[in-house]
Amino acid sequence: MTHIKYYAFPQTVNEALALLLNKKYKAMAVAGGTLVAKTLPDTVETYLDLKNLPIKGIKISGGNLIIGAGASFDEIDHSKLCRSWAGGVVSSAAAKCSSQLIRNMATIGGNVARPHSFNIFPVVLLGLDARVKVVSKAGAKTVDFAGLYAPGFGLKPGMECIITEIIIPAKTKKWRCEFIKLAKTESSWESYITLFFAAQKEGKTITQARVAVGALSPKPFRASAAEKAFLSGGAHNAATAFAMELDSARAGEYRSVAAANLLKRFIKGLV
Ligand SMILES: Cc1cc2nc3c(=O)[nH]c(=O)nc-3n(C[C@H](O)[C@H](O)[C@H](O)COP(=O)(O)OP(=O)(O)OC[C@H]3O[C@@H](n4cnc5c(N)ncnc54)[C@H](O)[C@@H]3O)c2cc1C
Repeated sequence: MTHIKYYAFPQTVNEALALLLNKKYKAMAVAGGTLVAKTLPDTVETYLDLKNLPIKGIKISGGNLIIGAGASFDEIDHSKLCRSWAGGVVSSAAAKCSSQLIRNMATIGGNVARPHSFNIFPVVLLGLDARVKVVSKAGAKTVDFAGLYAPGFGLKPGMECIITEIIIPAKTKKWRCEFIKLAKTESSWESYITLFFAAQKEGKTITQARVAVGALSPKPFRASAAEKAFLSGGAHNAATAFAMELDSARAGEYRSVAAANLLKRFIKGLV
């Protein structure tokens, strides 16, 4: 880190963006700092600390759950709003982050800024149809969570844009959800697989189904064949379709069998 020359503490998003875009400073955003120090490019000369920015709040707006990008895992775990949303899955996922020290420091913005196989929130946010608000030279825009990692996004978070909010849509508030981190120990960051399941049930009919998979590759993915079978109602068929999709994704037998059984358990629990 000997190449770091400046440490900046902007107070507003506009001020932070101006510093980030000023080529003279060669700046990179730092939120909790839990990951950035390990992966800092040699070209960076300025740490742009986001901690004073007003992007930490958690609120409801327009019926959506809005989580400020600067909210820590611990704040999300203990937020009453997060705990009462979709059965509390966002909070319980935050609680599965490896240690209290990391949960105190790490932010949701830093967790999603760059694809990483073992990060918890990407798979949860993909499954919840979340959107991400980013501010760049071109102004503020909101993109689907998957769009953040798509080649067409065209901006490097933390270098060319700042993530300010995660928006979890109102329609998911009553979804039945489960996040599973299948790992050697609860305190492992690495996991064999992470899973996010969600369903909306009206009467006896499943009207929405989500099966999202993380840890097999840096970007999480949705298992579309499993979701289709899940919507048609059969736990067994959904599990079979899921196992086949995981085989195609080279998950290996243990992960495929375990994940398919966990999906079957989730569907059977939707009574
Ligand atoms: C020992 C250890 C254990 C860990 N265990 C887990 C675990 O169990 N689960 C898990 O998911 N992760 C885990 N992590 C990974 C890491 O802590 C998370 O990814 C964390 O959420 C990063 O957030 P941060 O605020 O610390 O980001 P930082 O380290 O500050 O930044 C990470 C990256 O995101 C960019 N960035 C940060 N905030 C923004 C923003 N608002 N807008 C644009 N870019 C931004 C930075 O520029 C940088 O590129 C672990 C890390 C360590 C070191």
